[in-house]
Amino acid sequence: MTGDKKPGVTLEARNEDGSTEQVTIEFGPDGLLPVVVQEDGSKTVLLVAFMNREAFDLTRQTGLAHFWSRSRQQLWLKGATSGDYLKVTSLAVNCEENSLLVMVTLLGQAACHTGHKSCYYRELVAAGPTQPAEPV
Ligand SMILES: [Zn+2]
Repeated sequence: MTGDKKPGVTLEARNEDGSTEQVTIEFGPDGLLPVVVQEDGSKTVLLVAFMNREAFDLTRQTGLAHFWSRSRQQLWLKGATSGDYLKVTSLAVNCEENSLLVMVTLLGQAACHTGHKSCYYRELVAAGPTQPAEPV
């Protein structure tokens, strides 16, 4: 399946030092790009989702976060049913140009369908290391 790789989207990006460069955002073999959504200001991580090319284009055109729902296999305007739209304030691409960080302002109360602000409202108890890792 290496021959049918879809071309990416080439855009100008601004580095931390203010210089600019061309980046090519690559959608995965399934046509999907993982995106981390973070609240502007508080820096709270709200959710992780996927965009296909259409969702990416619609997000840029409308300023509202659109995703591809893998479970429903359909384009998804976040907030279309709940009213909890996510207004995009900036988009950043990672070093490998294969994921996005989407900074947003919450137009509703919650980013999560459970009513919680963030999808990551449950901390795993005693699941992490309880002892410092042994040096190898
Ligand atoms: Zn959630």
